Amino acid sequence: MPDLPPIALEWLSSMQVDVTRYVVFAVGVWLLLWIVLAPVLKGRKIREDVPAARQLLLEFFFSIRSIAVFSTVGLLTFLADRAGLMSGPAIARSWGPAWFWASLVLIIIGHDAWFYWTHRLIHDPRLFRTFHRRHHKSHNPSPFTAYSFDWGEAAINALFVPLWLMIVPTQWGVVGLFMLHQIVRNTLGHSGYELFPARADGRPVLPFLTTVTHHDLHHAQAGWNYGLYFTFWDRVMGTEHPEYLQKFAQAVRKPAAASTLVAAE
Ligand SMILES: [Zn+2]
Ligand SMILES: [Zn+2]
Repeated sequence: MPDLPPIALEWLSSMQVDVTRYVVFAVGVWLLLWIVLAPVLKGRKIREDVPAARQLLLEFFFSIRSIAVFSTVGLLTFLADRAGLMSGPAIARSWGPAWFWASLVLIIIGHDAWFYWTHRLIHDPRLFRTFHRRHHKSHNPSPFTAYSFDWGEAAINALFVPLWLMIVPTQWGVVGLFMLHQIVRNTLGHSGYELFPARADGRPVLPFLTTVTHHDLHHAQAGWNYGLYFTFWDRVMGTEHPEYLQKFAQAVRKPAAASTLVAAE
């Protein structure tokens, strides 16, 4: 493509990185969980029914469209940095390796808060149809649902990194690792199989993390479980599904603890 202006080539290469990441993880998780390990994981399937192939194809199409939005915003952010308009990445480099890892933890916690609050916002009936309906068309999600967004929701998600970089000094390498963590949690969270470890009493071993059941319930009954990585905001704001722990115990085929059932009543 020698005739394209440099900016178009940069956009295409950014698009290539983002599409590859999505395809590798979405197809990878689908192939691994839905095909290769399906017989082994039968006892961890959250719902009996499987979405139709048409749904998966639509999700794939809309995810690629969302990635075009992410790549555009990502490239503009990168160009702003190259033009010397952003001091954050250079400052972060001068703060050394301890800050590298601390800022990785902080960006994940920050994104969880951003996601929770913007997600609650786009569930407002005045915004839902324009911003969030596409994602909820997947009533029973699949690994391909990860980026199946309306334009507006894609833009809200894309804006997080540039806003973060303007406020918190963060290296680009941290952004790369953050994106990797994000796509892993996102595709697994839509995979339809409860993959998180459970205690003997049917409760999650890591109760502060959102499990697959947690987000699956959000798709089944919107209005609860808005969180992305952590259960913190749903617990604090009282938006955790009242039957969440009971449903988790069901998904891992363990009898729900008495305290779980009481909590669900
Ligand atoms: Zn939602
Ligand atoms: Zn979802």
